[in-house]
Amino acid sequence: MLYLDKKILLQLCAVMAMFSLFSCKPNPETFAIHTPIYPGSGENVTFSLKKIDGNVENVKLYETVQTINASGAVTATSATVLLQEWNNPGFPIQFVKSGGYASNRIVNYRFEVYGNDKHYTHDIKFATRPYPVSNQPAPVYIVGDINNVLNLVFIPDTDMNINTFYNAVKVDIDEVFHGEDYIRRFRNSYNFFINPFTGHAHDYDTETRDHEIPSNWDQLSFAQGKVILHNRDIRDFAEPDKLLFSAEHYVKGTLLHESGHNFYRLADEYGGGVHWQESELPNNWSSLSACQSAAAGRGMSSADAHQMGTSGWYKLCPASCVMESSGTAMHPYERPCRDRILYSILHRAGGE
Ligand SMILES: [Zn+2]
Ligand SMILES: [Zn+2]
Repeated sequence: MLYLDKKILLQLCAVMAMFSLFSCKPNPETFAIHTPIYPGSGENVTFSLKKIDGNVENVKLYETVQTINASGAVTATSATVLLQEWNNPGFPIQFVKSGGYASNRIVNYRFEVYGNDKHYTHDIKFATRPYPVSNQPAPVYIVGDINNVLNLVFIPDTDMNINTFYNAVKVDIDEVFHGEDYIRRFRNSYNFFINPFTGHAHDYDTETRDHEIPSNWDQLSFAQGKVILHNRDIRDFAEPDKLLFSAEHYVKGTLLHESGHNFYRLADEYGGGVHWQESELPNNWSSLSACQSAAAGRGMSSADAHQMGTSGWYKLCPASCVMESSGTAMHPYERPCRDRILYSILHRAGGE
């Protein structure tokens, strides 16, 4: 049975990969965010909806507010309130909640979007600051059950100004995970948290190759990714056994690259990186012949197979893939990497 289940899953992956390759982009395609991402008590909160593409005729914004206690249990829930409605809106849409929310609250906001004969929602939850549950990371952008989606905890480095850090988390959610053309289609597959305790990222070239973890590390085991956002200009790296990586808070391509190692077990695509071959839908191969024979099934041709530097490892992605090209610019995940991403998200949806 296990074998059959796996086979069915792989067939589904193949069908969905074909679908993603040939289908049109979503119409309309919109993204929602709130600012500040982790607001203090009484702080104004701005809700924004931006449009990537398509036709939007009507938008409604609702809120529901829960009161929570020190163990995170809900002790009261407000009525659901319509905050604003827009007809044939210009974008981005914004609504300012003047005076924000009290402490010990979980705010649930929902944009309902109508257009092109479609109707869908952005349903997002966030906590106000300080989150009352001690030692736990604060939920700041929650879209799904933590058991079925990818969870990322942002950890402030000791070298960061905390307000710069909070703003960087908002920018990274909005411009990295909602910015890359492929993974943003899975906007309901990523939850984001902010850790109340600091860590400290090390430089891969000049320091020991282990990041300093926060004091509540044992509470973070639920997350598939933990990232220390830092200010120092250093060479970042991932520790796959800890699902931990580092990134400069302002370098979006590095965040995308390093999260690729943790979330989907994608290997490096440059010579001198870290190479391995996953058993299912790898992006690195240990021989040229294996890489060539995988090409057709991965939307590439055998002529695309080539060695990464002089590493003795091979790949199909072009140099434009973010697993080769990280840094300030945001490069996309190319097709062979997209297969592995889809596979990982499907497994996670099944609770693995
Ligand atoms: Zn890497
Ligand atoms: Zn790639």
